[in-house]
Amino acid sequence: MRIAVIEGDGIGPEVTKSAIEVLKMAASKYGLNIDIAYVEAGDNAVRKYGEALPSRYWPIIEGADAILKGPVGESAGDVVVKLRRGGLDLYANIRPARNYPGGVKAVRDGVDLVIVRENTEDVYVRAEYMINDDTAVALRVITRRASERIARVALNMARARRRRVTIVHKANVLTVSDGLFRSVVRNVAREYPEVLINEMYIDAAVMDLVRRPPQDFDVIVTTNLYGDILSDLAAYVTGSIGLAPSANVGDNKALFEPIHGAAFDIAGKGIANPTAMILSAAWMLRWYGGERTGNNNYVAAGGAVEDAVINTLSQGIHTPDLGGNYTTESFTTEVIKRI
Ligand code: ATP
Repeated sequence: MRIAVIEGDGIGPEVTKSAIEVLKMAASKYGLNIDIAYVEAGDNAVRKYGEALPSRYWPIIEGADAILKGPVGESAGDVVVKLRRGGLDLYANIRPARNYPGGVKAVRDGVDLVIVRENTEDVYVRAEYMINDDTAVALRVITRRASERIARVALNMARARRRRVTIVHKANVLTVSDGLFRSVVRNVAREYPEVLINEMYIDAAVMDLVRRPPQDFDVIVTTNLYGDILSDLAAYVTGSIGLAPSANVGDNKALFEPIHGAAFDIAGKGIANPTAMILSAAWMLRWYGGERTGNNNYVAAGGAVEDAVINTLSQGIHTPDLGGNYTTESFTTEVIKRI
């Protein structure tokens, strides 16, 4: 398996180092053939090459089966949006939120949901203009094609879970663009009679994610910007933002990254929680062994890493964001021991 690794900025290199150590252990235990190539991208790449995602690295990204990406700082938009939308067409951003064991304090318990966020359009097409000195406009693009394919990802996922899909939108105000998104998802949903569909406005959804019984949410499907905001909240509601992994999946390739940002406030202190990054790497192994190749060794290795993380957390081995005093490194050592 060829993996392109972007360490990123802030705490990125620290949590990436952990994830790579864990990957190497899993690879040796499960006989995986992993080939890692590093790609410089982010704020440091801007300083060094004048480009956030230097074109010299594009062949490595194109040649990789998957990309494992740490958080990027100021230039995140230039890196992430280019990777998701550019030639790779990673159209589905999948962000699970669930509680973790071991006294990880959460705003809500009993959460087990997945946010399926459309990843290629909406205001993230980044078509913003000053039309005169005092007025800026931004285009919002919603297409039938992108709405249809994200609807299918969400509905297929719901079929394998608790069979509920909540469409989150603001079609009462954005009647044309969100109106199209909603009607396309509803149309696709007719092919899935076993899945219960409901809808929510984005403003109600952020409130209800905290207020309503967590069981009410299974799969949430939404457009790009709402999904971005909603998934940070969902990650927070279940504990630390340092725990939640995410996937950006296309038809042939996928990118895995933690939900959290570069966290410059704690960078270089050795206290970042590497869980989200390690779980992103585990998910990458499961995806590659599952949907991509059908090689069970990778699926088993991904599962073993996830079990090791859960086991570590449940024994109260926590980094400072969770109230513990383990460092990034000592936490990682504990995870590796358990694989
Ligand atoms: P972005 O806009 O890229 O999401 P941000 O600065 O808004 O970045 P984060 O970088 O995610 O948000 O950080 C938000 C807060 O969460 C910070 O105070 C940071 O210390 C904390 N945090 C984020 N990730 C981690 C982590 N892995 N371990 C510990 N704390 C973290």
